[in-house]
Amino acid sequence: MDLRELYQEVILDHNKRPRNKGKVINANRHAEGYNPLCGDMVALTVKTEGDKVTDIAFDGQGCAISTASASMMTEAVKGKTVEEAEEMFKAFQKMVTSQGVEPECEDQLGEEIMSLAGVREHPVRIKCATLAWHALHAALQGEEKVTTE
Ligand code: ZN
Repeated sequence: MDLRELYQEVILDHNKRPRNKGKVINANRHAEGYNPLCGDMVALTVKTEGDKVTDIAFDGQGCAISTASASMMTEAVKGKTVEEAEEMFKAFQKMVTSQGVEPECEDQLGEEIMSLAGVREHPVRIKCATLAWHALHAALQGEEKVTTE
């Protein structure tokens, strides 16, 4: 199995069995994201305590890339500080828009999320991959709606 196939497996698995799907009941932050190009929708509920993201869930519907990205994002930022989550948002954006491999992005995001780096070759898909991260950023900034347009 080559790396590309392995990456596809990770994405398919997260799409089939999304982690943290649903709603955080006692969330204190939330944001909705919409990607009109593809029709992806994500509704994010986040609970922060102090400076920590203690719980996070996503709902909505979208393509495999947007669902897998939301699933991986929620897993990655749960338990992190708000500042760390914002740094990961920046690293993710850099990862999907840069041409080469950025080692510091890989350190920050982990191997699983790096499986989405393949969207770089499909510009239309970049917005699918970044949607959940934009929603996270919006929720943490206290904004409630975000669109990729
Ligand atoms: Zn999409």
